[in-house]
This record gives sequence, structure tokens and C-alpha cells, in this order.
Amino acid sequence: MTHILSLHTPAFAQLPESFYRRVSPEPLNQPYWVAQNHTLAAEIGMPSEMFSDGMLAYLSGSAAHYDPAPIASVYSGHQFGVYVRQLGDGRAMLLGDWFDPAGGRWEWQLKGAGKTPYSRFADGRAVLRSSIREYLCSEAMHGLGIPTTRALALAGSDDAVYREEAETAAVVTRVAPSFIRFGHFEYLYHNGRHEQIATLADFLIEHHFPDCRQAENPYFALFQQISQRTADLVAAWQSVGFCHGVLNTDNMSVLGLTIDYGPFGFLDAYDRRHICNHSDTGGRYAYNEQPYVVHWNLSRLASCLLPLVSESALIDELERFPDLFQTAYANKMRAKLGLQTEQKGDDELIADMFTALQSRKIDFTLYFRHLADVGNRHDDPLPEALMALFHGPTESFIAWIGRYRGRLRAENSDPAARKMQMHAVNPLYVLRNYLLEQAIAQAKNGDYREIERLHRCLQNPFAEQKAFADFAEAAPDWAAQICVSCSS
Ligand code: AMP
Ligand code: MG
Ligand code: MG
Repeated sequence: MTHILSLHTPAFAQLPESFYRRVSPEPLNQPYWVAQNHTLAAEIGMPSEMFSDGMLAYLSGSAAHYDPAPIASVYSGHQFGVYVRQLGDGRAMLLGDWFDPAGGRWEWQLKGAGKTPYSRFADGRAVLRSSIREYLCSEAMHGLGIPTTRALALAGSDDAVYREEAETAAVVTRVAPSFIRFGHFEYLYHNGRHEQIATLADFLIEHHFPDCRQAENPYFALFQQISQRTADLVAAWQSVGFCHGVLNTDNMSVLGLTIDYGPFGFLDAYDRRHICNHSDTGGRYAYNEQPYVVHWNLSRLASCLLPLVSESALIDELERFPDLFQTAYANKMRAKLGLQTEQKGDDELIADMFTALQSRKIDFTLYFRHLADVGNRHDDPLPEALMALFHGPTESFIAWIGRYRGRLRAENSDPAARKMQMHAVNPLYVLRNYLLEQAIAQAKNGDYREIERLHRCLQNPFAEQKAFADFAEAAPDWAAQICVSCSS
């Protein structure tokens, strides 16, 4: 059982014992593999043979013995704007750390392997449906080049788990350099454990932000880096139409990773007010709110650093965030439009384009893909596929295309080169909700082939792949009725 020996005692366990509790997984009955991520295994230097029966038991919470002992960590956070005194790893447990051949550290967590001291009133389980969503979306985000926690494996069982109806249990093995959230800091601050805020910050700096050590105030430098990573992350989400769904502070990674895949969704038809989480009746986490809400989340984190950093420095840094975001966002959007230079008026050009899209509910992903076929000259015919998305072009969009072409000519844009560059940043495939629903429906019948196909396709979302032509279609009408809630 070499795989068990090669997980190391988690670095996280070096933190004071009050940060976590030791836990024992609750076994799944007769577990089976639903998915094995051989691509990720290769990336982290894990031999494929390690997906053995012993490993299945180990990664489903069903092994007879766990060494090192798994731990669950405590955090708190603001859920929908309201502070909750204690959350924590309610159904996640950290098994240990794995080192890749380059020396990179990967924490391995089981999600859904039973109750922990932080489960509150819940069952510590995850259902197959939501576990497939997490597995596929983690890997889809990685394929898009967006920082995320990863998913190494998915084990299932026929054990019943009750949500709105009876479902079956599953355990995802997720891996990341660290799962520390804003909420870990909030827990310490709001419980008056101010000296431990420095302990946690020191831990982060030591393991993940070593260059902060040189700064005059390393803790302030740490906050600056978290703020920058968060700006980059949310700009990346906006650029692919990703809606997280539950941007509570406990779902914010201090490493700037996408974490906690619940009721997320990629935009099909562009709608700036799109709300992917059925439970989010107020639209707090709507697509266009994401940059504002992560800014608010950063202000929650900043307040926890008050024992270490001056208030005025933190406020100054928070006030910079809109610019950090806007710069990152504009750069992403320029690349999506195939623009090589930065010009005055770019922000308006981008905003006016979305206004033209908003009125017609245009498929977000296909729009950018087809935009690459627009020619430079004002009398070049408009690409048919693009026009088809509009069911006939609108005046405002034709006017916008005129400005866009003017902008392209002004920088002597080469159409062929531009098309290649645009296709390299505008995915043809995203994990559309309806594709997920189909894969989940098949998996409930024991057929995991669609999971495998989606996984394979979404590893290379920018390259046209003949075998996956069906995944490049706009969503059918029934997709708009899909309802995704927090229940997972
Ligand atoms: P989430 O909405 O996924 O961010 O979860 C919020 C909190 O509830 C976290 O502390 C989770 O660990 C906990 N939680 C969510 N689902 C479960 C579950 N099925 N069993 C135990 N704890 C859970
Ligand atoms: Mg969470
Ligand atoms: Mg969750």
C-alpha cells in the first residue's frame, strides 16, 4: 500500500491544535470508481497504477486505517452578508500532503466522507450529482487556465443520502496547495484570538507567499497579494461567463483559487443580471455583482488584519481594488476581442458591446468564438454564424461592429493572426449546465462515459475537437428551466 505511505503529515497540522480537529472518515458501503483523473495524476507525479482497490477504499473513506490521521479545520464566515460564528470543514477532511516531482505540495482532501465536529446539523455527505459537478468543473476551470482547486478522483456508493429526494453518496478527492479561506482569518479575529492571526499569516507567507518576507510589513504585502490574486480571479471568471453562485467569505481562497463548486453556472445566453443559484433570490451573487461582492469579501478579510496592519494602509489597498479588477478585466477583454494595443475608449467599447448583447440574449461563448471571423473592412460581409446568433443583426450591434472595425484598422490588425489569437483565448467548449445534467442523468444509471467525454473535451476547451462537436452547441431551450440550488 505504497500510496498511503507517500502522503505526508499535512503542513497545516503544524498550526496550533486549536485550528483543527482529528477526524475519522465514515466508510461508504461497497464503493466504486466513478472517475479517475489520470491527467492530474500524471501532473502531480502519481503513477496511474495507484488507482487500485486499496486506493478506492482510501479515497472513499473506507480504508481500515488512516495514517497520517485526517483533520478537519475550523473557520467561520459571512454567508449572504451575515456573519456566522462557526463553520468549518463540515464534510471535508484533509488526508495529508503529496509532493510532486518538482517539490510542489498538494493537500489531499476527501469531500463527503462523513461528519466532522463542524458538520453542525448536516450529514457530512455529498451526493453523486453535486460531486460530478465539482469534479468536472474543477477540471474545466483548469482547462480554461483559471486558478482552481483540482479533483483527482470520484468514488460512489449506493448508500442513500437525502436531499430534496433520496440520492446516492459520493466522495470527491480534491487537491490544492492549500484550502485556507478568508473565513479562517475571520474565525480567529471574531473570537479574539488575535495573536493567532499572525500565526496563520506567517504560515501562509512561509508556504505560499515567501516574497512577502522582504516587505517592510509582510502582513500588508500578504494582503496586497491576496487582493491582486482575487482581482485576477474574478476578472477571469467574468471573461468566460462563470458565475460562482455562493461567494460567501468562507468560499474565498486566500490563494486566489476557485473553490467550493456548488450551484455554479456558465452563462449560456448573455444576461448581466444572471443568477445561477436558485436560492439566491436577491441576486447578491448575480454574474455582474461578482466583482463587487469579492471586493466586499476582501474588506471582511482586511478587517481581520487590523491587529497586524494599519487601518489606513488596508483602506488604501481596498480602494485600489476597483482599479486592479478593471485593469485585469480590460486586459482579458481586449484579448477576447483580438486587440493588440491599449487605447483610450477601450472600456466604453467593451461596455457598449455588452449593452448590444444584453438586449438579444446572445450565447456568450459562441459569440466570442464567431467574432473572430469579422473582417477589418467596413464592407466585409458579417460572418453568417455570428448573425445567426442574433436572429438578424440589430442596429446597435451593427453600429458597434463599425467602431470595432475602426479600432482593428487603427492598429493594423491582421485578420488571420487575430483569428488564431482569439481562438486561443475564447473557448469553444464550456461546462454548460445542460451538458452536466445529461452526464449526471447517465451516471445515475451507472454509465460514466459522458463524464469521461466531458472531462477529455474540457481539458482543451480552445481547440476544435471533432469528437466533441455535440458539446459546442448552444444550450437547448429546456436548459433555461434547469434549477440549481445550494443543496449538495
Ligand atoms: P457551503 O455552502 O458549501 O459553502 O457550506 C457551508 C458550510 O456548511 C461549510 O461549513 C460546510 O462544511 C458545511 N456543509 C455543507 N454541506 C454539508 C454537509 N452535507 N454536511 C456537513 N457540513 C456541510
Ligand atoms: Mg463552502
Ligand atoms: Mg459547498
